[in-house]
Amino acid sequence: MNDPKTSRLPASAGAPTSVSERIRARIETAGARFHANDNIAQFIEGDAELKALEDELAEKMQGLIETLVIDTASDHNTRGTARRVARMFLHEVFKGRYHRMPRVTEFPNAERLNELMIMGPITVRSACSHHLVPILGKLWIGVLPSERSNLVGLSKYSRIADWIMSRPQIQEEAVMQLADLLEERLRPEGLALVLEADHFCMHWRGVKDESHMTNSVMRGAFLNNPELRKEFLQLVRGG
Ligand SMILES: [Zn+2]
Repeated sequence: MNDPKTSRLPASAGAPTSVSERIRARIETAGARFHANDNIAQFIEGDAELKALEDELAEKMQGLIETLVIDTASDHNTRGTARRVARMFLHEVFKGRYHRMPRVTEFPNAERLNELMIMGPITVRSACSHHLVPILGKLWIGVLPSERSNLVGLSKYSRIADWIMSRPQIQEEAVMQLADLLEERLRPEGLALVLEADHFCMHWRGVKDESHMTNSVMRGAFLNNPELRKEFLQLVRGG
């Protein structure tokens, strides 16, 4: 009952005061996690509340710009920036947090396909959780279906990947999240992912040159069968 996490809420009113506090209170009541790369769409009550969250965010972005001592009143370039950034965060670059997963229809493997399928390169766009600066990369997905697997249309892989990537992410966690989701939905015999990405927090800040990072996840048959893994990696490198 005395969860220390809820003590941040104003005790006097008994109710959260802002839209973000209201959403946060629901998440905490449900005992769910709300890290940067978690989706919280189920805790947002429809488009009206999402719009209200956008208003709150735009107001706070305006405060941030003012704290940077930028005169948004006379500088026409920054006059609408707070609202533009709020919209961009909630509905574009971080939509994978605030919007539900795109509709994806799985269908049974009626043809009993059991050949390696490779999707890619799929362009992925994300942002690092550390600096909220872009990560741009290429993703390859290898699926070895079994008779009991579900399949999805080719274009759906990029939509699912986009939903996972459109959050403040850590590359290693992003590929794991995507692998977990694909495994759950497709129940493949084997699943392999390779993600190569450029981290603009390195480029932009000029910290160091190693801004390129490659991650891979191998599961099921790709772990147990070195020949299959080799075939996948050769095809990825060739493409
Ligand atoms: Zn970073």
